[in-house]
Amino acid sequence: MLTRQSVRQSRSAVLAIIRARQSSTQPPDPNIKPLESILIANRGEIAIRVNKTAARHGITTTTLYTDPDAASQHAYSSSRSYNLGQTSEYLNQAKILALAKDHGCQAIHPGYGFLSENADFARKCAEAGITFIGPPPSAIDDMGDKARSKEIMNAAGVPCVPGYHGSDQAPQRLAKEAEAIGFPVLIKAVRGGGGKGMRIVQSADAFSDMLDSARREAMNSFGNDEVLVEKYITTPRHIEVQVFADKYGNSLALGERDCSIQRRHQKILEESPAPELDDNIRKDLWQKARAAAEAVKYEGAGTVEFIFDNDTGKFYFMEMNTRLQVEHPVTEMVTGLDLVQWQIMVAEGRRLPLTQDEVEERISKRGHAIEARIYAENPDRGFIPDSGKLLHVRLPVATDDIRIDTGFVQGDTVSSHYDPMIAKLIVRGEDRRDAVRKLAVALESYEVAGPVTNIDFLKRCCESNDFAEGRVETGYIPKHHDELFAKRTPTPEVLIQAALSSFLQAKSQKPTVPQQTQANTPTSLSWSSPQSNLQSRNFTFQSADEETTPGTTPQTHSIQISQLSPTQFTAQAGNNSYTLTSTLDPTTNTLTTYFPHTRHTSRIIHASDSSIIHLFTPQGSYRLTPTQPGWLAKALGTTEKANSLLSPMPCKILRVDVKPGDVVKKDQTLLVIESMKMETVIRSPGEGLVVKRVVHGQGEVVGTGVELVEFEEIEAKE
Ligand code: ADP
Ligand code: ADP
Ligand code: MG
Repeated sequence: MLTRQSVRQSRSAVLAIIRARQSSTQPPDPNIKPLESILIANRGEIAIRVNKTAARHGITTTTLYTDPDAASQHAYSSSRSYNLGQTSEYLNQAKILALAKDHGCQAIHPGYGFLSENADFARKCAEAGITFIGPPPSAIDDMGDKARSKEIMNAAGVPCVPGYHGSDQAPQRLAKEAEAIGFPVLIKAVRGGGGKGMRIVQSADAFSDMLDSARREAMNSFGNDEVLVEKYITTPRHIEVQVFADKYGNSLALGERDCSIQRRHQKILEESPAPELDDNIRKDLWQKARAAAEAVKYEGAGTVEFIFDNDTGKFYFMEMNTRLQVEHPVTEMVTGLDLVQWQIMVAEGRRLPLTQDEVEERISKRGHAIEARIYAENPDRGFIPDSGKLLHVRLPVATDDIRIDTGFVQGDTVSSHYDPMIAKLIVRGEDRRDAVRKLAVALESYEVAGPVTNIDFLKRCCESNDFAEGRVETGYIPKHHDELFAKRTPTPEVLIQAALSSFLQAKSQKPTVPQQTQANTPTSLSWSSPQSNLQSRNFTFQSADEETTPGTTPQTHSIQISQLSPTQFTAQAGNNSYTLTSTLDPTTNTLTTYFPHTRHTSRIIHASDSSIIHLFTPQGSYRLTPTQPGWLAKALGTTEKANSLLSPMPCKILRVDVKPGDVVKKDQTLLVIESMKMETVIRSPGEGLVVKRVVHGQGEVVGTGVELVEFEEIEAKE
């Protein structure tokens, strides 16, 4: 068994090997140029990750940020940090190089994405006398083109997926090649990345449309619309090998990673070693990956991606990523090595410090690692990215075996300008079962409120039976759709917790209306005056996790809360009535409620605009949307006072958006009010209404049921 101590010992053992081999007692090697200052040309978690290794080795770092990233963690991670300006400036080669020169940086670490696989940039670095921490430009060029790399691989004896990689891009020619390969085929942008510019074509008649759409996407994303066509493997696994090479022709395979759990051709769970893989195939993969790296005279960290055909047991070269990969921590966990440190060592001109046998020896002892990518995205809506402020973040406990790489803390904003990855959660276990269990537990305790995340979805993935058994494939998510996307109705306990919390929240935020004004309008403000506490209120919610048929309105849940004493309440949910004892810990936002037979504890976070309530319970997390309660609808409606809109609650008028004579559309903003420190938009209740009078102006404070906007009378249409 691996203890913390043994991990530490093995780390220091490797450092000892490195020192022994590169001992300062030997004459200084003219090929070695120690790096003392690095510019990190990236953002988010990877910028912070690179900075950690630099700090560990006494290397000065300079970081860069853009306007939308001005308050981001990576911008603060170094005392030398410079603003590049607009959103896209992480790609501004000239500006970045000028900054590196001006500030005496000896090297540039490009992270992943952005300039990391840009041969042109690597060349410009060399010309400017700055070390690009990555492979030589020629290797980036060779591997950056999926068609060209396949020619090189074929020549080097590395098997490739049968397909057409030629330069004749005429649609007829491509269609003919597709026919010859046999459907289904995959069209891929030769310059593609991140799953973009890729289309599966099932039959000949769909080819032309798919080709057009792949080309359009490729042109938009990569400025090049060349494609290749290859056999589509129907039950594949994505297995990749982490390679490392030094400037002296030595190469190593640091084990493989299975990244089959993907959505939109992009990875979300990655692990090492690949489960259920024959050892001979594993060693063959490593061998072929080293051959691939050697064929392009590779240097530094790279990943050779293979597609493994589950039906035949054969594997094929897919592409090589000539950079540090998002999922590199999985390899760090199973080798106990720091890959960023190795990148720096290779860039300094040092030799690889271990032999292949030594690497294998290490891997055999370090168990199993899995990474889960935490994204701001909505799995229920086709994984569309989300953004917004992180209202609440609670991280799992980090240990030697549980690592969290993130670029955000609570209060930060996940910007819509960049990749929506919030963090990477990496766990290590003695074996796969242990790792999967640790991952599930860690995901369970990972709380994020604000943007929608994939945390619950990831948890379902790792709890699903086939994943637990190691039966993975790239089509895993669609194939296990029902299991992974199962909907659940919030239990009465969950709804009551949300209602209780909303009740207490409303109480704690009163009174927001100045006393004097209350005195002026005593009747309408009676419920919010300190003397008469909010005794009873109705709350209605819709659940974001509940099954809805497209086109139908989601179910609305209604809960009536009445307060009996500071900690005693009754709740009415449907026909059931509960007597409850409930206390809120405001520091942790934890609400503990004693139901007649059970106790429920949940952390409850309210969005500041009341648009959503996040509940974190031991049974899972829920997102509830407060909907307009009956009394509010009534107040907003025109039923009680024809042609007038009434204030739904005691409030201050923050903004008036209409004037007499305006014709308004249904749901158009009329006014914005503030109540209980929350803004509410008052919208037009109907189409084509004409504003007759705006009764109160900006800054005025009014009570409930006070007339706000009066409309012209509408003549009934024939
Ligand atoms: P990895 O291959 O390291 O697992 P991804 O394929 O998800 O990771 O890519 C990592 C990041 O790099 C993502 O932000 C992705 O959008 C970006 N990226 C990957 N390839 C390219 C490319 N060819 N051009 C631009 N961005 C890319
Ligand atoms: P990218 O550069 O966007 O990462 P890849 O060529 O690495 O593109 O492919 C991305 C993913 O698409 C793979 O991980 C795999 O799931 C799927 N894929 C790629 N090639 C094939 C193929 N020939 N057959 C089936 N699936 C494939
Ligand atoms: Mg890929």
